[in-house]
Amino acid sequence: GPAGAEKFDYVLVGGGTASCVLANKLSADGNKKVLVLEAGPTGDAMEVAVPAGITRLFAHPVMDWGMSSLTQKQLVAREIYLARGRMLGGSSGSNATLYHRGSAADYDAWGLDGWSSKEVLDWFVKAECYANGPKPYHGTGGSMNTEQPRYENVLHDEFFKAAAAAGLPANPDFNDWSRPQDGFGEFQVSQNKGQRADTYRTYLKPAMARGNLKVVTGARATKVNIEKGSSGSRATGVEYATQQFGDRFTAELAPGGEVLMCTGAVHTPHLLMLSGVGPAATLREHGIEVVSDLAGVGQNLQDHPAAVLAARAKPEFEKLSVTSEVYDDKCNVRLGAVAQYLFQRRGPLATTGCDHGAFVRTSSSLSEPDLQMRFVPGCALDPDGVKSYIVFGELKKQGRAWPGGITLQLLAIRAKSKGSIGLKAADPFINPSININYFSDPADLATLVAAIKMARQVAAQEPLKKYLQEETFPGERASSDKDLEEYIRRTVHSGNALVGTAAMGTNPGAGAVVSSADLKVFGVEGLRVVDASVLPRIPGGQTGAATVMVAERAAALLRGQATIAPPSRQPVAV
Ligand code: FAD
Repeated sequence: GPAGAEKFDYVLVGGGTASCVLANKLSADGNKKVLVLEAGPTGDAMEVAVPAGITRLFAHPVMDWGMSSLTQKQLVAREIYLARGRMLGGSSGSNATLYHRGSAADYDAWGLDGWSSKEVLDWFVKAECYANGPKPYHGTGGSMNTEQPRYENVLHDEFFKAAAAAGLPANPDFNDWSRPQDGFGEFQVSQNKGQRADTYRTYLKPAMARGNLKVVTGARATKVNIEKGSSGSRATGVEYATQQFGDRFTAELAPGGEVLMCTGAVHTPHLLMLSGVGPAATLREHGIEVVSDLAGVGQNLQDHPAAVLAARAKPEFEKLSVTSEVYDDKCNVRLGAVAQYLFQRRGPLATTGCDHGAFVRTSSSLSEPDLQMRFVPGCALDPDGVKSYIVFGELKKQGRAWPGGITLQLLAIRAKSKGSIGLKAADPFINPSININYFSDPADLATLVAAIKMARQVAAQEPLKKYLQEETFPGERASSDKDLEEYIRRTVHSGNALVGTAAMGTNPGAGAVVSSADLKVFGVEGLRVVDASVLPRIPGGQTGAATVMVAERAAALLRGQATIAPPSRQPVAV
């Protein structure tokens, strides 16, 4: 098959965010043979490299998995579209590039040995290469490029003034843990001089020429082979297919080798279940032999649900919007914008559109912000913020005009609701079911109702108000809490932060899937999970940085360069 007949010390399933980190670090040891199996193509496409290309990556026929949730009764029977990158670099190739770690308390609340805020901070800093550094809380020696956003728009400054007038403090650095996360400011971005700094570009590409690293694209893993022996179960390799109904192959492990699951929070639990690792009842229902009965596989799914407030600009201010800086009146990308990007790596193509904003507590009883406001200097065309991006990417095709204005995308960043990933079928080509289950905890809906009220307060301050004609979403007629709740249920969309479905911990009986000491799947030798699925509780910020942090730690552990929990504090499975 495409992976050849050789045997590998590490088979990395999925070539996404975490996988590219591992592939680089593990293949740095020339004695280890490393294989990456990625279902999608490389991440070389221009839409990936140029940040504004994000509008063409949502629902992309090849570079996105095109998945939606099950019908959500509580969301007026909608299915929620859930973007997932499908390329080398994974979702770091299609995400909004915002660089947020969350806050120290997010990690301390996990209560896991080795994962305290102090311990994870070391690895955030080690992984980072901050363009404006050195600076406290930021690293300059790592591979993950970060910088301040490079697109300037007068509306950003007016948003800051309005936020200040509404009583919010300024925050010069949301990743500086010596201060509260609250306030308004620039969001740092995972970019390198205005180019997307996904993990394909930053970690995998520099290692591609190594003879001991093999990367196979267009290879969809269908199962981890696990052998049951007298002394327990052990992974032996990975089955994969090169096209949907095409040839099947097996990538085999060398003696002592390991399979590292890096297929993300949706497909990792899917593949584990297909391989016999998961809730026994679910597996039996689909005729899958149980290897390790782990109730937590696919459970504990978390995300940041989001709602939008948008307002149209007065006619004389239409042209201030990022949207009219990108497109001319005929919906062609402006040559000036292209030239500015090519020569300066600045201008409206250097932004994913949402890299300024605020973190806010919607209630004074909270100890951390429950809300992230993302300010977009453009008017949403659809109250579903993700759909609005998709429409923008297709504007030429649709021949629509784009009005000027502003949008505040409001995310419940410390959401408490939990959903799950389930099996629709034992056929690996049938994607798993996703019950996103927003608002199973009513606190999240309350956050978004309060968020719209706060966004209205900000938009009503003179610095912004002077530009605005009318609120388009939800629209002024939606005024009571009941109106706002209805609007949110009708329009809530994903903040694209799926985590938790193969959570790390110490007790499989309490839902842990992998050990927090070494990320090993309970009950199977030679099998670990290294991706966003292991985060047990969602951090209050975008999840890419935390995913890279986990992968850096896993790589150092596997290289024997560091442990996670010191030996004296190794948790013992109950
Ligand atoms: P991924 O990076 O998704 O990698 C999984 C890989 O596995 C993919 O390449 C996939 O194609 C592959 N795969 C899946 N199944 C198979 C299979 N069966 N066989 C072979 N390969 C397979 N985070 C931020 O920090 N900042 C942001 O601004 C931000 N915005 C986001 C916007 C969007 C639209 C999305 C989708 C995410 C966003 N995130 C953001 C979240 C962040 O990108 C993810 O948390 C992170 O990339 C997850 O990394 P991962 O390694 O777990 O999975």
